[in-house]
Amino acid sequence: MKRVNVAIMGLGVVGGGTYDILTGNHDHIKRTQGVDIRVKKVLDRDRERVLGRGVPESAFTDSIDELAADKDIDIVVETMGGVEPAKTFIIRMLQSGKSVVTANKELISKYWYALEPVAKANGVGLYFEASCVGGVPIIRTLTESMQANRVCELYGIINGTTNYILTKMTEDGSSYEAALREAQQLGYAEFNPTADVDGFDAMYKLSILSSLAFHTTVPYGNIYREGITRITAEDIKSARDLGYVIKLLAIGRRENDRVEARVHPTFVPVDHPLAGVRGSFNAVWLTGDYVDDIMLYGRGAGARPTGSAIVSDVVFCAKRKTHEYTDFGIAEKADSHIEFATDFSSKYYLAVTACDRAGVLAAVTKILGECGVSIRNILQKGGEGEYAPVTFLTHTAKEKSVMTALEKIDKLESVRSIDSCIRCL
Ligand code: NAP
Repeated sequence: MKRVNVAIMGLGVVGGGTYDILTGNHDHIKRTQGVDIRVKKVLDRDRERVLGRGVPESAFTDSIDELAADKDIDIVVETMGGVEPAKTFIIRMLQSGKSVVTANKELISKYWYALEPVAKANGVGLYFEASCVGGVPIIRTLTESMQANRVCELYGIINGTTNYILTKMTEDGSSYEAALREAQQLGYAEFNPTADVDGFDAMYKLSILSSLAFHTTVPYGNIYREGITRITAEDIKSARDLGYVIKLLAIGRRENDRVEARVHPTFVPVDHPLAGVRGSFNAVWLTGDYVDDIMLYGRGAGARPTGSAIVSDVVFCAKRKTHEYTDFGIAEKADSHIEFATDFSSKYYLAVTACDRAGVLAAVTKILGECGVSIRNILQKGGEGEYAPVTFLTHTAKEKSVMTALEKIDKLESVRSIDSCIRCL
């Protein structure tokens, strides 16, 4: 039976989960997959933490040179996170003839173009199923199961922290601040939550997923990004009243040579399957030209689900004699014949606070009409004193038309504030 030796770099949450699976399910994997996978080395800064997890002393190292020189190590799992030194370590491992499996979405999104050629030149594999949507096998679905199709659309709830916060706000009426605090207490959100709540994490994942789905480089810099920090309890309530829930959606579309990629809070109709994805769960909805719609759902983070995705890559890699790389040749910049849409079309939910007097609503709707934004629904709510909140649901309109209209509305003396502009699915 084939014997494969693995090293893990970074024994934190995900590295620890990976170690537990590779040791705990060693016999099961050996029996069902026909490959004997052993963890030979664990690299980390903290010896005591590593030994405390049951790793034998002989397996511990804090030296990347030792890993590079060890000819018996076939596959290296990178679960340290961050860009450096992870990038340098991964390149070193690839150059030493070892395949690499990583969960590092930021690194893959930013430097995939630099890492893939090194893997290719050395005839080794670079795998990153765990970098997107934790335990949900989305990358293998895109690369190994959708070959018959042109994927034209991808909608994902691909960040568990923001989905947890929005679910709490929707179901318990929590404020954004209270829901974030709870997510931090439960370990779903970092002390510094920026990467999640400002949409960076979802943007990195969307860059990877849409590149694979659309067979062209989708740099993260070409993705429109907006986080959830401005979502208020009022927005959540309005969404409910209108038959929607608010989700942070990652949206990718390709039509011929036109690609659209964006991450932003979105009104999702309550009867859409993505509306039922609650708490820290994730889901990705894909549309292929022949398969039609499919949806993958599961845990997008955590030691065990993410470890499961890493081990799936380790097994996949261990069973291969040769490795495959992107068919389109991932690059630093987008292909010149691809046009990235900035003026996309959507329906919009708009909320403004305006003087509660005759003619004000007419002035606002006139501007919307002049900018080509047609209104589906207007709701004026009881205000306090001279001001009242008004919400609009539009028909499908162009992003730039809506932004131009909002700029003009904001200048009206009778409008106190533009409170919300949320795109609808
Ligand atoms: P973590 O718990 O902080 O684990 C990282 C481990 O690597 C820690 O033990 C850390 O030690 C060690 N480490 C970092 N830099 C090192 C270095 N230069 N030399 C030696 N050891 C080093 O992080 P994590 O949550 O497991 O995340 C790891 C990766 O998985 C990240 O890329 C993340 O984006 C990705 N990921 C995580 C999840 C999740 O649910 N957590 C899900 C999907 C993907 P110190 O603590 O001393 O720094």
